Amino acid sequence: MKLTHKLTLAFLLTSLIAIGLAAIFVGITTSIGFNQYIVDQRQGQFVSAVTDYYRLHGSWKGVDNALRQQGLLPPFVQPGSAPPDPQPFALVDQNRAVIIPGGQYQPGEKIKEGTLAKGFGIEVNGLVVGTVLVTGQTPARSAIETKYINSVIQSLLVAALGGGVIALLLGVFLARTLTHPLRDLTAATREMAGGKLEQRVPVRSKDELGELAESFNQMSADLARANQSRRQMTADIAHDLRNPLTVIGGYLESLQDGKLKPTPERFVTMQIEVQHLQRLVDDLRTLSLADAGELALYCQPTAPADLLERVKTAYQHQAEERGICLDVKTGTNLVEFSMDAERMEQVLGNLVSNALRYTPEGGEIRLSALWQDPGRLVLSVWDTGSGIPPEILPHIFERSYRGDLSRSGGESGLGLAIARSIVELHGGNIHAESRPGEGSQFVITLGLSTEK
Ligand code: ADP
Repeated sequence: MKLTHKLTLAFLLTSLIAIGLAAIFVGITTSIGFNQYIVDQRQGQFVSAVTDYYRLHGSWKGVDNALRQQGLLPPFVQPGSAPPDPQPFALVDQNRAVIIPGGQYQPGEKIKEGTLAKGFGIEVNGLVVGTVLVTGQTPARSAIETKYINSVIQSLLVAALGGGVIALLLGVFLARTLTHPLRDLTAATREMAGGKLEQRVPVRSKDELGELAESFNQMSADLARANQSRRQMTADIAHDLRNPLTVIGGYLESLQDGKLKPTPERFVTMQIEVQHLQRLVDDLRTLSLADAGELALYCQPTAPADLLERVKTAYQHQAEERGICLDVKTGTNLVEFSMDAERMEQVLGNLVSNALRYTPEGGEIRLSALWQDPGRLVLSVWDTGSGIPPEILPHIFERSYRGDLSRSGGESGLGLAIARSIVELHGGNIHAESRPGEGSQFVITLGLSTEK
């Protein structure tokens, strides 16, 4: 059974039950109220007729015949014919004996004082000459009364039927409106399953279904982007693997043919290319381990100043060769921090090697560490290089490899993606700030996860 049908049925059933209960309740209360009205009205007539009779005749003798003639008592019933009409009132004389029977009060029966007190006393010339008792039997309705009550019931039925039809139409409308976004989503997910990852469904409302449509659109856009970046990365890696392999392959072929002589320089060139391949494979492995959550950290208390000095020493020579000033600046209140020093050195090394690449001669690169309450260590690498264009700044940590395919050199192009994975494994975060033409700064904040 379709969801639309289920919802329509649910709406319809709920409305029908509500309408039915309301109709039954209104019907019953109307009927009770109307019966009470008839009893009250008949009681007035009965009491005034018997009072008049006694006043005129001075006794109750023949009162039943007189009332029968006035139509206030049902006519005698022949034995074997239909049962008599219900008798709503009984009359009791001054000796507490029933003279007009009705309901449970039998002819001649002596009525108790307590029961009499509940009746309506008949007074003639200041004396109580009898009592009218209500038997509890509902008097027969006259033709006009029956017509009235029937018309009330008819109106109730028409209203219930009208309500039911409106409930059905509303149910169909609501069910269709509610399931429309779901149908959109089903169609879009089918398309996605077929390989078209970029899907958009219309956001039709601001409720939970609208939110679902919005998150679906977001998810689809993210998936499409991730897929695109995976393709780009594969293409870039293939490109980076091909370059060194072409160089090494070319050299080996020429050496084999004897076209080139095996000089030490040629072997150094080939070794550099092999190192490049080695680094690329290492980076890919680190990234895939981080992705799988299997990159183990060996954290130990580490002095931040020592860490920065080690990175400086590693890149000092390269910086001097390029005429760049590489210095370290640390805060005075630094304390030892628990981290995987080797991995963190790899992160800072990546940042410094990027900075060296993008900083011209005469520039400056500064490594700094400072302590921030409560319990945070902030490490940064600042340079006076070319800066990062604002349009690529938000994407530099993505593993879309890199945009600059023309660049050659030892970098794997996965540096920042690896840096982010390692920093996040430490429970910290990394971000970049940059002014094109003036320089960039990469800031690592550790100790965030221990904060409450
Ligand atoms: P790559 O091997 O391309 O440097 P990274 O992930 O290390 O790969 O960096 C991604 C991109 O970020 C780089 O291609 C470059 O455009 C930009 N970038 C990183 N560091 C700097 C920097 N210090 N100055 C300017 N641009 C930078």
